[in-house]
Amino acid sequence: MFPFTYTKVSSTREAITAAQRGGRYVAGGTTLVDLMRETVERPDTVVDISALPLREITTTSRGELRIGALVRMADAAADPTVRARYPVIADALELSASAQLRNMATIGGNVMQRTRCTYFRDMSAACNKRQPGTGCAAREGFNRSHAILGVSEACVATHPSDVAVAFAALDASIDLIGPDGVRRIPFAEFLLLPGSTPNREHSLRPAELITAVTIPAHPRPLRSGYLKVRDRQSYEFALTSAAVAMHVQAGVIRIAKVAAGGVGTVPWKLPAVERHLVGQRPSDRLWATAAAKAVDGTQPLAHNEFKVELLKRTVERQLRIVGGTR
Ligand code: SF4
Repeated sequence: MFPFTYTKVSSTREAITAAQRGGRYVAGGTTLVDLMRETVERPDTVVDISALPLREITTTSRGELRIGALVRMADAAADPTVRARYPVIADALELSASAQLRNMATIGGNVMQRTRCTYFRDMSAACNKRQPGTGCAAREGFNRSHAILGVSEACVATHPSDVAVAFAALDASIDLIGPDGVRRIPFAEFLLLPGSTPNREHSLRPAELITAVTIPAHPRPLRSGYLKVRDRQSYEFALTSAAVAMHVQAGVIRIAKVAAGGVGTVPWKLPAVERHLVGQRPSDRLWATAAAKAVDGTQPLAHNEFKVELLKRTVERQLRIVGGTR
């Protein structure tokens, strides 16, 4: 470990001021403290925001579901409104990490967590994300768990969050507060593709703080769920995953929302799959033809070619489960 200053704040104004002086926000600490122990991250000042009043799950007057950034993963998963309206969020949370971690980690921290690429955490390995311009050890190294969508020459690391895949599927937004006031950005614009600057992972401005994740109101109730495929049944990251939400009326799919995890450098929304489904009648053939579109544009690496077929099957299976023809 290395010396650093710890400061605990009790208001968002105090938090922003401390961050403007160079502090890093920490709440549950389940990502940052690990990275500090491994010296991958070395902040001079850590700003503890865990006492801020951002722990509520509310339904707005417009019918949006607003999940405070400091709501613990376990609490969000157990919330009656989340479970009733968006089982896909509860499923994704319950299939994440371990019970101990879910009791500590927050929703805001979960979407901000950094990649599990082993080379990123290995200080002796070349890694453009950790140290820009040094290269990418994963490209020529062991890349079985890496991304097949959204990759660049500079970085092929996956985004590790499960619930972020559900948020992407549901077209969530991120609510922020910073030195210039509050703003809301679509979740699709929050996490950045690696391109030539994989060290830039999100579109937060300096000292901005996530206050909530907001799920828009949908005109009709959605059936939804999350399927995660991994090497072991618990405490493991996704090889592939699928978040699906659907509304079927009079035998026709009216709304379809689909995203994939474990395969993209960011949670991977699948608009071509969604378009293929809307207006159609649920059938095994429809699930198969829709899922085939999930793998458009994939760029597998030396050790993860298997993810292409696995992604197709994961999406097809979850469409069948949520669409009700299993
Ligand atoms: Fe670093 Fe990204 Fe390459 Fe992993 S994939 S070694 S995080 S640059």
